[in-house]
Amino acid sequence: MLDVPVINNRAELVYLDNNATTTCYQEVVDAMRPYWTIEFANPSSTHLASRRIQKQIHNARESVASVLNVQPYQIFFNSGATEGNNWIFDSFALSNGTSKKIAISCIEHKSALLAARALRERGFDIIELPVNKDGVVVLEVARQLISDEVGLVAVQLANNETGVIQPIDELVAIAHGHGAFFHCDAVQGLGKMPVDLASLEVDSAVFSGHKIHGPKGIGVLYLRSGSRSFPWQFASYGGGQEQGVRSGTLNVPGIIGIAKACDMLRPVDINHMNNLKTILERGIKKIFPDSIIHGESVMRIANTTNVAIPGIPADILMANLPLFCISSGSACNSGAIGVSYVLEAMGMPIDEARSSIRLSTSAQTSEHEIHSFLLELEKIRGRM
Ligand code: PMP
Repeated sequence: MLDVPVINNRAELVYLDNNATTTCYQEVVDAMRPYWTIEFANPSSTHLASRRIQKQIHNARESVASVLNVQPYQIFFNSGATEGNNWIFDSFALSNGTSKKIAISCIEHKSALLAARALRERGFDIIELPVNKDGVVVLEVARQLISDEVGLVAVQLANNETGVIQPIDELVAIAHGHGAFFHCDAVQGLGKMPVDLASLEVDSAVFSGHKIHGPKGIGVLYLRSGSRSFPWQFASYGGGQEQGVRSGTLNVPGIIGIAKACDMLRPVDINHMNNLKTILERGIKKIFPDSIIHGESVMRIANTTNVAIPGIPADILMANLPLFCISSGSACNSGAIGVSYVLEAMGMPIDEARSSIRLSTSAQTSEHEIHSFLLELEKIRGRM
């Protein structure tokens, strides 16, 4: 059995791991509730109960499309960004006549990176685009590596570990200049920076409900071409739902939930998180002047701070902060403690990576919680 320490007052927990997942807003839960009980019909049927739900799905699709500044026919609901990322690579690979070369940033989420790498066994050439010490894809190298032979380029909008924003406009221009399709994992951008898909000009993108105070197990795949002129074969078979792009009975409560969560995104929350980030980073630097904030000098999303506190391994720091839910920059691979592949790709010395923690806030994080984190950090400095 998993050994979980008993903490008497759960309310005392300070949750600073919102890049992993967020709480579902009460309004989202309320909006979803009828769709499990009263409005439970399968939207693929033809009777009245089903048609009522079809209308709600239609409205949900319109809501999501309008928040992303695209058209409803470009929006497809699925189970989340992992599925969406895998779908894009599978779809590319399934289609005869596509090129055999893919370029992908080396710091993509595993659901994209591993899906791309798996295609090596099927004869594809996977080029991994390097990042600089700030975690930004190096444009000059991308320009050299992306040629007319590349059919698909995939780079995320913002990194889940560091929050660093990628130069998507420039990368899209490079890809399109060579006739390649551009896929963007925009999961960590939505709600934490302005996201306008129409102006980004990416060909596809993925989003996830549970990162924006929506439910888990629901996501959005955006296809700029819509389903009709999508250039490749669809990577799933079944009942043909979502215009054949994603077969399977629709997750109606999830769709209602992600649409409500999208509706609730507000620019003022981005300001709030940016403000918390400033307080947090200034505070950490005051307590540990030699701390290193990764990607400090480049554009980052509003809610993410990934910081190394030299001399204090992340696991020790976290053990001393039991009431704070945070993430570390190390990863446990087959029993051995390694370091995050993202920090490693940034060329970070191993000790610095091992001393790195990720703090990620949400619209619901309070200034008080940030101050209580800093207070605890100060006590740790005293003890160490
Ligand atoms: N991409 C990124 C950048 C992510 O942060 C995550 C979630 N950690 C995913 C994809 C996967 O999303 P989901 O949980 O919806 O499968």
